[in-house]
Amino acid sequence: MTPPEAASAPARPPALDRLLEGPALKALVELHGRQPVLAVARDELARWRQAEPPCDFDRLLFEARCQALLQAAATPHLRPVFNLTGTVLHTNLGRALAPPEAVQAVAEAMSRPTNLEYDLEDGQRGDRDDHIEGLLRELTGGEAATAVNNNAAAVLLMLGTLAAGKEVLVSRGELIEIGGAFRIPDIMRRAGARLVEVGTTNRTHLRDFAEAITPRTALVMKVHTSNYAIQGFTAAVPEAELAALCRERGIPFAVDLGSGTLVDMTRWGLPAEPTPAQAIAQGAQLVSFSGDKLLGGPQAGLIVGDKALVARIKRNPLKRALRLDKMTIAALEAVLRLYRDPERLAQRLPTLRLLSRPAEDIRAQAERLAPQVAQALGARATVQVLTCRSQIGSGSLPVERLDSACLALGAPPGQRRAGRFPEQLAAALRALPMPVIGRIEDGLLRLDLRCLDAGSDEKRFVEQLALLQLPG
Ligand SMILES: *Cc1c(COP(=O)(O)O)cnc(C)c1O
Repeated sequence: MTPPEAASAPARPPALDRLLEGPALKALVELHGRQPVLAVARDELARWRQAEPPCDFDRLLFEARCQALLQAAATPHLRPVFNLTGTVLHTNLGRALAPPEAVQAVAEAMSRPTNLEYDLEDGQRGDRDDHIEGLLRELTGGEAATAVNNNAAAVLLMLGTLAAGKEVLVSRGELIEIGGAFRIPDIMRRAGARLVEVGTTNRTHLRDFAEAITPRTALVMKVHTSNYAIQGFTAAVPEAELAALCRERGIPFAVDLGSGTLVDMTRWGLPAEPTPAQAIAQGAQLVSFSGDKLLGGPQAGLIVGDKALVARIKRNPLKRALRLDKMTIAALEAVLRLYRDPERLAQRLPTLRLLSRPAEDIRAQAERLAPQVAQALGARATVQVLTCRSQIGSGSLPVERLDSACLALGAPPGQRRAGRFPEQLAAALRALPMPVIGRIEDGLLRLDLRCLDAGSDEKRFVEQLALLQLPG
Protein backbone atom coordinates (compact mmCIF):
# COMPACT_ATOMS: atom_id res chain seq x y z
CA MET A 1 0.00 0.00 0.00
CA THR A 2 1.33 3.47 -0.89
CA PRO A 3 1.48 5.99 1.93
CA PRO A 4 -1.00 8.87 1.46
CA GLU A 5 1.77 11.55 1.16
CA ALA A 6 3.27 9.86 -1.95
CA ALA A 7 0.20 10.67 -4.02
CA SER A 8 0.70 14.40 -3.44
CA ALA A 9 4.55 14.45 -3.80
CA PRO A 10 5.51 16.93 -6.51
CA ALA A 11 6.44 15.65 -9.98
CA ARG A 12 10.21 15.27 -10.30
CA PRO A 13 12.35 16.30 -13.27
CA PRO A 14 13.97 13.75 -15.57
CA ALA A 15 17.77 13.31 -15.20
CA LEU A 16 19.86 16.22 -16.53
CA ASP A 17 21.17 14.06 -19.40
CA ARG A 18 17.62 13.35 -20.48
CA LEU A 19 16.69 17.03 -20.30
CA LEU A 20 19.67 17.87 -22.49
CA GLU A 21 18.51 15.41 -25.12
CA GLY A 22 15.23 17.27 -25.60
CA PRO A 23 14.97 19.49 -28.68
CA ALA A 24 14.73 22.75 -26.69
CA LEU A 25 18.00 22.32 -24.76
CA LYS A 26 19.70 20.79 -27.77
CA ALA A 27 18.98 23.96 -29.68
CA LEU A 28 20.36 26.03 -26.81
CA VAL A 29 23.58 23.97 -26.76
CA GLU A 30 23.91 24.57 -30.47
CA LEU A 31 23.54 28.31 -29.93
CA HIS A 32 25.43 28.97 -26.68
CA GLY A 33 27.70 25.94 -26.18
CA ARG A 34 27.37 22.98 -23.81
CA GLN A 35 29.01 24.45 -20.73
CA PRO A 36 26.81 27.55 -20.31
CA VAL A 37 23.66 25.47 -20.89
CA LEU A 38 24.74 22.89 -18.30
CA ALA A 39 25.46 25.62 -15.75
CA VAL A 40 22.09 27.30 -16.24
CA ALA A 41 20.22 23.98 -16.22
CA ARG A 42 21.89 22.93 -12.95
CA ASP A 43 21.04 26.28 -11.35
CA GLU A 44 17.44 25.97 -12.45
CA LEU A 45 17.16 22.40 -11.11
CA ALA A 46 18.60 23.57 -7.77
CA ARG A 47 16.06 26.37 -7.72
CA TRP A 48 13.26 23.87 -8.24
CA ARG A 49 14.58 21.64 -5.40
CA GLN A 50 14.68 24.59 -3.03
CA ALA A 51 11.26 25.94 -3.99
CA GLU A 52 9.06 26.59 -0.96
CA PRO A 53 6.43 25.19 -0.96
CA PRO A 54 7.63 22.34 -3.21
CA CYS A 55 5.99 22.34 -6.64
CA ASP A 56 5.69 20.10 -9.68
CA PHE A 57 8.57 20.24 -12.12
CA ASP A 58 7.30 21.97 -15.25
CA ARG A 59 9.57 21.10 -18.15
CA LEU A 60 8.27 23.82 -20.49
CA LEU A 61 8.75 26.45 -17.84
CA PHE A 62 12.24 25.12 -17.06
CA GLU A 63 13.25 25.28 -20.72
CA ALA A 64 11.83 28.75 -21.17
CA ARG A 65 13.75 30.02 -18.13
CA CYS A 66 16.98 28.43 -19.37
CA GLN A 67 16.48 30.12 -22.69
CA ALA A 68 15.76 33.53 -21.17
CA LEU A 69 18.78 33.35 -18.85
CA LEU A 70 21.15 32.26 -21.60
CA GLN A 71 19.88 34.97 -23.91
CA ALA A 72 20.34 37.62 -21.22
CA ALA A 73 23.87 36.38 -20.54
CA ALA A 74 24.69 36.50 -24.24
CA THR A 75 23.56 40.14 -24.65
CA PRO A 76 26.63 42.40 -24.76
CA HIS A 77 26.93 44.63 -21.72
CA LEU A 78 28.13 47.57 -23.80
CA ARG A 79 25.51 48.16 -26.43
CA PRO A 80 23.98 50.84 -28.63
CA VAL A 81 21.26 53.10 -27.28
CA PHE A 82 19.20 55.93 -28.73
CA ASN A 83 20.54 59.21 -27.40
CA LEU A 84 17.40 61.35 -27.29
CA THR A 85 18.58 63.33 -24.28
CA GLY A 86 19.15 66.45 -26.32
CA THR A 87 22.84 66.47 -25.38
CA VAL A 88 24.80 65.66 -28.50
CA LEU A 89 28.23 65.02 -26.94
CA HIS A 90 26.93 63.08 -23.94
CA THR A 91 29.90 61.80 -21.93
CA ASN A 92 27.88 58.99 -20.33
CA LEU A 93 26.64 57.90 -23.76
CA GLY A 94 30.07 57.84 -25.38
CA ARG A 95 30.45 61.39 -26.79
CA ALA A 96 31.32 61.70 -30.50
CA LEU A 97 30.17 59.21 -33.15
CA ALA A 98 32.70 58.00 -35.66
CA PRO A 99 32.34 58.50 -39.39
CA PRO A 100 32.42 55.37 -41.59
CA GLU A 101 35.98 56.18 -42.68
CA ALA A 102 37.12 55.87 -39.06
CA VAL A 103 35.14 52.68 -38.43
CA GLN A 104 36.71 51.11 -41.51
CA ALA A 105 40.21 52.20 -40.47
CA VAL A 106 39.71 50.74 -36.97
CA ALA A 107 38.50 47.41 -38.38
CA GLU A 108 41.59 47.17 -40.61
CA ALA A 109 44.00 48.19 -37.85
CA MET A 110 42.52 45.60 -35.50
CA SER A 111 42.47 42.70 -37.88
CA ARG A 112 45.77 43.12 -39.72
CA PRO A 113 49.37 43.91 -38.89
CA THR A 114 50.09 47.60 -39.43
CA ASN A 115 53.09 49.92 -39.55
CA LEU A 116 52.07 51.22 -36.11
CA GLU A 117 55.66 51.83 -35.00
CA TYR A 118 57.49 50.91 -38.13
CA ASP A 119 59.03 53.23 -40.67
CA LEU A 120 58.23 51.81 -44.09
CA GLU A 121 60.86 53.93 -45.82
CA ASP A 122 63.96 52.77 -44.00
CA GLY A 123 62.60 49.59 -42.45
CA GLN A 124 63.45 50.78 -38.95
CA ARG A 125 61.47 51.32 -35.82
CA GLY A 126 59.02 54.22 -36.22
CA ASP A 127 56.98 56.45 -33.91
CA ARG A 128 53.25 55.95 -33.46
CA ASP A 129 52.70 59.71 -33.38
CA ASP A 130 53.91 59.88 -37.00
CA HIS A 131 50.48 58.82 -38.27
CA ILE A 132 48.81 61.93 -36.93
CA GLU A 133 51.51 64.51 -36.37
CA GLY A 134 51.59 65.79 -39.93
CA LEU A 135 47.82 66.27 -40.03
CA LEU A 136 47.77 67.97 -36.64
CA ARG A 137 50.55 70.33 -37.68
CA GLU A 138 48.74 71.17 -40.89
CA LEU A 139 45.40 71.73 -39.15
CA THR A 140 46.66 73.74 -36.16
CA GLY A 141 49.82 75.48 -37.33
CA GLY A 142 51.74 73.87 -34.45
CA GLU A 143 55.37 72.89 -35.07
CA ALA A 144 54.93 69.47 -33.49
CA ALA A 145 52.19 67.26 -32.08
CA THR A 146 51.64 64.22 -29.93
CA ALA A 147 48.61 62.37 -28.61
CA VAL A 148 47.64 60.45 -25.48
CA ASN A 149 44.63 58.67 -24.03
CA ASN A 150 42.45 61.72 -23.29
CA ASN A 151 42.75 65.42 -22.59
CA ALA A 152 42.98 64.90 -18.84
CA ALA A 153 46.06 62.77 -19.54
CA ALA A 154 47.40 65.45 -21.90
CA VAL A 155 47.14 68.10 -19.17
CA LEU A 156 48.71 65.76 -16.60
CA LEU A 157 51.57 65.05 -19.00
CA MET A 158 52.19 68.72 -19.83
CA LEU A 159 52.25 69.65 -16.15
CA GLY A 160 54.33 66.65 -15.08
CA THR A 161 56.89 67.27 -17.80
CA LEU A 162 57.28 71.02 -17.57
CA ALA A 163 56.40 71.86 -13.98
CA ALA A 164 57.12 68.96 -11.59
CA GLY A 165 58.49 70.41 -8.37
CA LYS A 166 57.82 73.92 -9.60
CA GLU A 167 55.01 76.45 -9.78
CA VAL A 168 52.25 76.88 -12.34
CA LEU A 169 50.26 80.09 -12.59
CA VAL A 170 46.54 79.77 -13.34
CA SER A 171 43.85 82.44 -13.15
CA ARG A 172 41.43 81.94 -10.20
CA GLY A 173 38.54 82.14 -12.66
CA GLU A 174 39.81 79.03 -14.48
CA LEU A 175 40.22 76.51 -11.65
CA ILE A 176 37.67 74.25 -13.19
CA GLU A 177 36.16 70.91 -12.39
CA ILE A 178 35.00 68.83 -15.33
CA GLY A 179 32.46 66.08 -14.58
CA GLY A 180 34.04 62.82 -13.47
CA ALA A 181 36.73 64.11 -11.11
CA PHE A 182 38.94 66.20 -13.34
CA ARG A 183 39.85 69.22 -11.23
CA ILE A 184 42.71 71.48 -12.15
CA PRO A 185 44.04 71.73 -8.55
CA ASP A 186 43.97 67.92 -8.17
CA ILE A 187 45.66 67.25 -11.50
CA MET A 188 48.26 69.82 -10.56
CA ARG A 189 49.01 67.99 -7.30
CA ARG A 190 49.15 64.62 -9.08
CA ALA A 191 51.63 66.06 -11.56
CA GLY A 192 53.80 67.21 -8.66
CA ALA A 193 53.37 70.87 -9.56
CA ARG A 194 52.41 73.66 -7.19
CA LEU A 195 49.39 75.68 -8.24
CA VAL A 196 49.65 79.42 -7.82
CA GLU A 197 46.27 81.08 -8.14
CA VAL A 198 46.34 84.42 -9.86
CA GLY A 199 43.78 87.24 -9.68
CA THR A 200 40.23 86.81 -8.43
CA THR A 201 37.33 84.61 -9.46
CA ASN A 202 35.76 87.15 -11.77
CA ARG A 203 38.69 89.37 -12.74
CA THR A 204 42.30 88.62 -13.53
CA HIS A 205 44.64 91.21 -15.06
CA LEU A 206 47.98 90.99 -16.82
CA ARG A 207 49.70 92.72 -13.89
CA ASP A 208 48.46 89.91 -11.59
CA PHE A 209 50.41 87.43 -13.68
CA ALA A 210 53.45 89.71 -13.95
CA GLU A 211 53.57 90.04 -10.15
CA ALA A 212 53.09 86.31 -9.54
CA ILE A 213 56.04 85.22 -11.68
CA THR A 214 59.04 84.14 -9.56
CA PRO A 215 62.17 82.08 -10.26
CA ARG A 216 60.11 79.03 -9.26
CA THR A 217 57.53 79.61 -11.99
CA ALA A 218 57.78 76.86 -14.61
CA LEU A 219 54.60 77.36 -16.59
CA VAL A 220 51.67 79.68 -17.12
CA MET A 221 48.51 77.83 -18.02
CA LYS A 222 45.25 79.07 -19.39
CA VAL A 223 42.27 76.76 -19.00
CA HIS A 224 39.30 77.15 -21.26
CA THR A 225 36.31 77.41 -18.92
CA SER A 226 34.41 74.96 -20.99
CA ASN A 227 31.53 73.94 -18.76
CA TYR A 228 30.43 77.25 -17.29
CA ALA A 229 30.53 80.94 -18.10
CA ILE A 230 31.50 83.81 -15.83
CA GLN A 231 29.27 86.74 -16.68
CA GLY A 232 28.91 90.27 -15.43
CA PHE A 233 31.85 92.30 -14.08
CA THR A 234 34.61 90.13 -15.49
CA ALA A 235 38.08 90.43 -16.92
CA ALA A 236 40.38 87.80 -18.32
CA VAL A 237 43.77 88.46 -19.81
CA PRO A 238 43.75 88.17 -23.60
CA GLU A 239 45.85 85.21 -24.68
CA ALA A 240 48.15 87.29 -26.88
CA GLU A 241 49.08 89.58 -23.96
CA LEU A 242 49.70 86.68 -21.61
CA ALA A 243 51.77 84.97 -24.29
CA ALA A 244 53.86 88.11 -24.79
CA LEU A 245 54.50 88.38 -21.05
CA CYS A 246 55.56 84.73 -20.90
CA ARG A 247 57.87 85.13 -23.88
CA GLU A 248 59.46 88.16 -22.28
CA ARG A 249 60.05 86.28 -18.99
CA GLY A 250 61.11 83.05 -20.71
CA ILE A 251 58.29 80.94 -19.29
CA PRO A 252 56.32 78.43 -21.37
CA PHE A 253 52.66 79.26 -21.91
CA ALA A 254 50.19 76.39 -22.27
CA VAL A 255 46.47 76.44 -23.04
CA ASP A 256 44.08 73.64 -22.11
CA LEU A 257 41.35 74.22 -24.68
CA GLY A 258 39.15 71.36 -23.52
CA SER A 259 36.95 70.88 -26.51
CA GLY A 260 39.08 71.39 -29.53
CA THR A 261 37.50 72.06 -32.82
CA LEU A 262 39.74 72.52 -35.80
CA VAL A 263 37.39 74.73 -37.81
CA ASP A 264 35.33 77.85 -37.30
CA MET A 265 31.98 76.50 -36.06
CA THR A 266 30.11 79.68 -36.99
CA ARG A 267 30.16 78.66 -40.64
CA TRP A 268 27.45 76.14 -39.71
CA GLY A 269 25.52 78.60 -37.60
CA LEU A 270 27.03 77.22 -34.39
CA PRO A 271 28.45 79.33 -31.57
CA ALA A 272 32.11 80.28 -31.88
CA GLU A 273 34.58 78.05 -30.03
CA PRO A 274 38.31 78.82 -29.88
CA THR A 275 40.52 76.62 -32.07
CA PRO A 276 44.06 75.37 -31.42
CA ALA A 277 45.15 77.31 -34.52
CA GLN A 278 43.91 80.55 -32.92
CA ALA A 279 45.59 79.77 -29.61
CA ILE A 280 48.88 79.07 -31.38
CA ALA A 281 48.54 82.19 -33.52
CA GLN A 282 48.07 84.15 -30.29
CA GLY A 283 51.32 82.80 -28.94
CA ALA A 284 50.44 79.67 -26.97
CA GLN A 285 53.44 77.34 -26.94
CA LEU A 286 51.41 74.27 -26.10
CA VAL A 287 47.72 73.59 -26.66
CA SER A 288 45.85 70.52 -25.48
CA PHE A 289 42.35 69.41 -26.45
CA SER A 290 40.07 66.36 -26.56
CA GLY A 291 39.63 64.02 -29.51
CA ASP A 292 36.02 63.09 -28.77
CA LYS A 293 34.36 66.41 -28.02
CA LEU A 294 33.72 68.89 -30.83
CA LEU A 295 36.51 67.37 -32.90
CA GLY A 296 34.19 64.41 -33.40
CA GLY A 297 36.81 61.67 -33.19
CA PRO A 298 37.82 58.90 -30.77
CA GLN A 299 38.71 59.46 -27.12
CA ALA A 300 42.16 61.05 -27.16
CA GLY A 301 44.11 63.99 -25.81
CA LEU A 302 46.02 66.00 -28.39
CA ILE A 303 48.97 68.24 -27.69
CA VAL A 304 50.28 70.62 -30.34
CA GLY A 305 52.83 73.40 -30.24
CA ASP A 306 56.51 74.19 -29.80
CA LYS A 307 58.83 71.50 -31.13
CA ALA A 308 61.28 71.45 -28.22
CA LEU A 309 58.49 71.35 -25.61
CA VAL A 310 56.61 68.56 -27.43
CA ALA A 311 59.89 66.62 -27.66
CA ARG A 312 60.34 66.94 -23.87
CA ILE A 313 56.78 65.71 -23.35
CA LYS A 314 57.40 62.72 -25.60
CA ARG A 315 60.48 61.74 -23.60
CA ASN A 316 58.52 61.62 -20.33
CA PRO A 317 58.05 57.94 -19.31
CA LEU A 318 54.45 58.86 -18.44
CA LYS A 319 53.85 59.35 -22.17
CA ARG A 320 54.46 55.62 -22.62
CA ALA A 321 51.88 54.84 -19.95
CA LEU A 322 49.31 57.14 -21.50
CA ARG A 323 49.93 56.34 -25.15
CA LEU A 324 47.23 55.72 -27.72
CA ASP A 325 46.43 52.25 -28.99
CA LYS A 326 46.33 51.43 -32.68
CA MET A 327 42.53 51.53 -32.90
CA THR A 328 42.44 55.08 -31.65
CA ILE A 329 45.27 56.15 -33.91
CA ALA A 330 43.49 54.66 -36.91
CA ALA A 331 40.23 56.42 -36.06
CA LEU A 332 41.94 59.70 -35.24
CA GLU A 333 43.89 59.78 -38.48
CA ALA A 334 40.71 59.11 -40.49
CA VAL A 335 38.80 61.87 -38.70
CA LEU A 336 41.64 64.41 -39.00
CA ARG A 337 41.81 63.68 -42.72
CA LEU A 338 38.17 64.78 -43.10
CA TYR A 339 39.15 68.21 -41.77
CA ARG A 340 41.31 68.80 -44.84
CA ASP A 341 38.07 69.27 -46.76
CA PRO A 342 35.98 71.61 -44.57
CA GLU A 343 33.31 72.13 -47.26
CA ARG A 344 32.05 68.59 -46.88
CA LEU A 345 32.79 68.21 -43.17
CA ALA A 346 29.20 68.72 -42.00
CA GLN A 347 27.98 65.85 -44.18
CA ARG A 348 30.83 63.53 -43.35
CA LEU A 349 31.45 64.02 -39.64
CA PRO A 350 28.45 62.67 -37.67
CA THR A 351 28.93 64.94 -34.65
CA LEU A 352 28.98 68.07 -36.78
CA ARG A 353 26.07 66.78 -38.86
CA LEU A 354 23.96 66.36 -35.71
CA LEU A 355 25.03 69.70 -34.25
CA SER A 356 24.25 71.58 -37.44
CA ARG A 357 20.87 69.94 -38.15
CA PRO A 358 18.36 72.70 -38.84
CA ALA A 359 15.54 72.98 -36.29
CA GLU A 360 12.92 72.80 -39.09
CA ASP A 361 14.36 69.49 -40.17
CA ILE A 362 14.06 68.05 -36.66
CA ARG A 363 10.56 69.52 -36.31
CA ALA A 364 9.45 67.88 -39.56
CA GLN A 365 10.84 64.57 -38.32
CA ALA A 366 8.94 64.97 -35.04
CA GLU A 367 5.68 65.75 -36.88
CA ARG A 368 6.21 62.74 -39.10
CA LEU A 369 6.97 60.38 -36.20
CA ALA A 370 4.36 61.59 -33.70
CA PRO A 371 1.39 59.70 -35.25
CA GLN A 372 3.47 56.53 -35.61
CA VAL A 373 4.65 56.73 -32.01
CA ALA A 374 1.11 57.50 -30.82
CA GLN A 375 -0.13 54.43 -32.64
CA ALA A 376 2.64 52.22 -31.24
CA LEU A 377 1.95 53.42 -27.70
CA GLY A 378 -1.85 53.20 -28.02
CA ALA A 379 -3.54 54.17 -24.77
CA ARG A 380 -0.31 53.82 -22.78
CA ALA A 381 0.90 57.42 -23.20
CA THR A 382 0.00 60.68 -24.90
CA VAL A 383 2.31 62.13 -27.55
CA GLN A 384 2.82 65.74 -28.56
CA VAL A 385 5.42 67.60 -30.57
CA LEU A 386 7.16 70.43 -28.67
CA THR A 387 10.05 72.72 -29.41
CA CYS A 388 13.06 72.28 -27.16
CA ARG A 389 16.70 73.25 -26.91
CA SER A 390 19.55 70.80 -27.42
CA GLN A 391 22.93 71.15 -25.77
CA ILE A 392 26.29 70.53 -27.35
CA GLY A 393 27.52 68.72 -24.24
CA SER A 394 30.85 67.58 -22.81
CA GLY A 395 31.37 71.03 -21.45
CA SER A 396 31.48 72.55 -24.91
CA LEU A 397 29.89 75.96 -25.29
CA PRO A 398 28.08 75.68 -21.96
CA VAL A 399 25.57 78.48 -22.22
CA GLU A 400 24.66 77.99 -25.84
CA ARG A 401 21.57 76.03 -26.83
CA LEU A 402 20.45 74.75 -30.21
CA ASP A 403 16.80 75.00 -31.28
CA SER A 404 15.33 71.55 -31.67
CA ALA A 405 12.10 69.56 -31.45
CA CYS A 406 11.04 66.69 -29.25
CA LEU A 407 8.30 64.14 -28.80
CA ALA A 408 6.88 64.80 -25.35
CA LEU A 409 5.27 61.72 -23.80
CA GLY A 410 2.79 62.13 -20.96
CA ALA A 411 0.49 60.08 -18.75
CA PRO A 412 -2.77 59.03 -20.38
CA PRO A 413 -5.80 60.94 -19.06
CA GLY A 414 -7.16 59.53 -15.80
CA GLN A 415 -3.94 57.67 -15.01
CA ARG A 416 -3.63 56.89 -11.32
CA ARG A 417 -0.37 58.07 -9.76
CA ALA A 418 0.40 60.13 -12.88
CA GLY A 419 3.22 61.80 -10.93
CA ARG A 420 5.37 58.71 -11.19
CA PHE A 421 4.50 58.14 -14.82
CA PRO A 422 7.49 59.88 -16.47
CA GLU A 423 9.98 57.85 -14.40
CA GLN A 424 8.13 54.59 -15.13
CA LEU A 425 7.98 55.42 -18.82
CA ALA A 426 11.68 56.33 -18.85
CA ALA A 427 12.50 52.98 -17.21
CA ALA A 428 10.35 51.10 -19.74
CA LEU A 429 12.10 52.86 -22.63
CA ARG A 430 15.48 51.94 -21.15
CA ALA A 431 14.39 48.29 -21.07
CA LEU A 432 13.75 48.12 -24.82
CA PRO A 433 16.08 46.00 -27.00
CA MET A 434 17.82 49.19 -28.08
CA PRO A 435 17.37 51.36 -25.00
CA VAL A 436 15.91 54.83 -25.54
CA ILE A 437 17.31 57.55 -23.25
CA GLY A 438 15.25 60.72 -22.92
CA ARG A 439 14.97 63.55 -20.44
CA ILE A 440 12.21 64.32 -17.94
CA GLU A 441 11.09 67.92 -17.69
CA ASP A 442 7.86 69.43 -16.36
CA GLY A 443 6.23 66.02 -15.89
CA LEU A 444 6.83 64.94 -19.48
CA LEU A 445 9.36 62.54 -20.89
CA ARG A 446 11.00 64.44 -23.72
CA LEU A 447 12.70 62.70 -26.61
CA ASP A 448 14.82 65.27 -28.45
CA LEU A 449 15.08 63.98 -32.02
CA ARG A 450 18.26 65.87 -32.97
CA CYS A 451 20.33 62.69 -32.65
CA LEU A 452 17.84 60.29 -34.25
CA ASP A 453 19.11 59.61 -37.74
CA ALA A 454 16.24 59.65 -40.23
CA GLY A 455 16.36 56.29 -42.00
CA SER A 456 17.09 52.91 -40.49
CA ASP A 457 17.47 54.27 -36.94
CA GLU A 458 14.10 55.95 -37.08
CA LYS A 459 12.38 52.78 -38.25
CA ARG A 460 13.99 50.71 -35.51
CA PHE A 461 13.03 53.30 -32.90
CA VAL A 462 9.34 53.23 -33.84
CA GLU A 463 9.08 49.49 -34.35
CA GLN A 464 10.43 48.50 -30.95
CA LEU A 465 7.95 50.79 -29.16
CA ALA A 466 5.38 48.03 -29.62
CA LEU A 467 7.41 46.03 -27.05
CA LEU A 468 7.16 48.74 -24.40
CA GLN A 469 6.02 47.32 -21.05
CA LEU A 470 4.52 49.74 -18.57
CA PRO A 471 3.51 48.65 -15.07
CA GLY A 472 -0.21 48.22 -14.42
C1 LIG B 1 36.84 68.06 -21.17
C2 LIG B 1 37.97 68.82 -20.65
C3 LIG B 1 39.08 68.17 -20.10
C4 LIG B 1 39.15 66.68 -20.01
O1 LIG B 1 39.20 66.11 -21.29
P1 LIG B 1 38.93 64.55 -21.49
O2 LIG B 1 39.24 64.32 -22.94
O3 LIG B 1 37.53 64.31 -21.12
O4 LIG B 1 39.88 63.82 -20.62
C5 LIG B 1 40.11 68.93 -19.63
N1 LIG B 1 40.06 70.28 -19.67
C6 LIG B 1 39.01 70.94 -20.19
C7 LIG B 1 39.02 72.42 -20.21
C8 LIG B 1 37.93 70.23 -20.70
O5 LIG B 1 36.88 70.86 -21.21
